[in-house]
Amino acid sequence: MKRLTFFSIIGLLFLILYACDTTPQNSAQKPHYESPDLVVGLIVDQMRPDYIYRYWDKFEEGGLKRLVNEGYTFRNAYFRHLQTSTGPGHAAQLTGATPSVHGLIGNSWYVRELDRNINVIEDVDSGHQGVGSQPDYPGEKSPANMLTTTVGDELFMHTGERSKTVGISRKDRGAILPAGHTGNAYWYEGSTGNFITSTFYMDQLPGWMQEFNDRNLPQEYLTRTWDTLLPIEEYVESRADDNPYEGTFPGMDSPTFPVDLAYLVEEHGQGPGLLNATPFADELLFELAVAAIEGEELGRGDVTDMLMVALSAADAIGHRFGPASKQVQDYYLRLDRYMAEFFDYLDREFGMENVLIFLTADHGGAYVPEYMSDLGIPTGHQEFGVSAAGQVSSAVGDYLEETYGENFLLAFSNQNLFLDHDYIDANGLDHVAVQKDVKRFALSLDQVGGAITADALNNQEFTIGMRARAMHAFHQKRSGDVIVWLQPQTHGSGTGGTGHGSGWAYDTKIPLIFFGYDIPHGQSGHKAYVSDIASTVSVYLNTPFPSGNIGNPLNDFMK
Ligand SMILES: [Zn+2]
Repeated sequence: MKRLTFFSIIGLLFLILYACDTTPQNSAQKPHYESPDLVVGLIVDQMRPDYIYRYWDKFEEGGLKRLVNEGYTFRNAYFRHLQTSTGPGHAAQLTGATPSVHGLIGNSWYVRELDRNINVIEDVDSGHQGVGSQPDYPGEKSPANMLTTTVGDELFMHTGERSKTVGISRKDRGAILPAGHTGNAYWYEGSTGNFITSTFYMDQLPGWMQEFNDRNLPQEYLTRTWDTLLPIEEYVESRADDNPYEGTFPGMDSPTFPVDLAYLVEEHGQGPGLLNATPFADELLFELAVAAIEGEELGRGDVTDMLMVALSAADAIGHRFGPASKQVQDYYLRLDRYMAEFFDYLDREFGMENVLIFLTADHGGAYVPEYMSDLGIPTGHQEFGVSAAGQVSSAVGDYLEETYGENFLLAFSNQNLFLDHDYIDANGLDHVAVQKDVKRFALSLDQVGGAITADALNNQEFTIGMRARAMHAFHQKRSGDVIVWLQPQTHGSGTGGTGHGSGWAYDTKIPLIFFGYDIPHGQSGHKAYVSDIASTVSVYLNTPFPSGNIGNPLNDFMK
């Protein structure tokens, strides 16, 4: 009896100790209405989540491994929409919406009223000009086409306009869309190697940005040779360096290491834009991230600030060489080191418990279809080097000509067939009947994986599968008349290398990791969407959800 009592008391003590130990250390100091000093979004253009595990053994401890080992990973995270390109993807992250709501249905799309394609960040007839750019720079750029607010916009209004959001990227759209309507955006001008902006934001670059440009880092990087970080024979996770599936740098005969940048500059007249398809463009962006934090004093004031870092060298390298390449592997090994250094900086300056970080992507990417075809995987009866989307477009045009006596297809963009409504009306045709007719014909084509009419999307709700992804990509005022998607593993553009844009898993599945601040370590297999990021971050900021939000806070890890 005594013995039992003794052990019961010891057991109880252990229980109490255990309970004390698992109570969040900072729960007393961090009531729910507090918020982080700084939110940092790391958005890697074309990053597939499998890269983290594929190259795991070659990462150091402080970068991607630290995110996974200390942060919270969603292993089953997807885009909801099928037009998986940069513009729609970046908008989804911070609006919490899909193209059906935020209105960005592609990187560019056909506009009936203008009878031409507009770019996602083109601010038509705004008169805006480049700031810090060459005089002839086409500067009519802003987030005006994005119809809803972002997390940063809501934070700005919530704090009485004290909060700052800064978006930076090599790409204009990568900087402009994550910065929202009320933040500032800076992007790279390939012809000069400077970071620039537009008069939508300001009339003059801030002093810190001018100082950054004056450092001329791109000129220094252009004297380098891009060789593998580790001995190339250790890159066993990737296929042979010399192979027929990859594009080359202009001026090089083979898609192989090393890439002598100084030679390409001197002998082939390349400029600072050459860095775009090397990891050094993203090394430059991490330098700029620190300069932006220091220059804008982000995270130092009374309210939360946001820094959105869209790393897009990954996309250019992925397009040229594809996910199985040694170039992509080398990029991620270097990204890992850049991230580790950046995290060290945040540790020193803020303490990671005061910084909320999320890592995600704007879309995934496909293996080079020709490579898969040679492995015996079906690739949509594709003629390599020829655009499958172009073939569909001309076949539909021919069909209309034969059936109706005229080709009234205006455009095939972002998997949308735009028909001429005036022609349909003038000839007394029925819009829905024509849509169904075109859809039926499209389904007869070998390259086509599926199709749905605008009428079906206007009148029905789909919850799973490609029709649901088409629904989330379909904007009632901006989209076309028939949505046509290609077979899996089919390359839309036919320009060599590889691409993205489809609704298949390799394009829609992306990494999603939260780290720092109040985030515990863990992982979840629950389905999570990129459109859930905005409401999740909003909960940590105690701000209203963005105006078009359709996502839900990811509460797997919320205390
Ligand atoms: Zn891309």
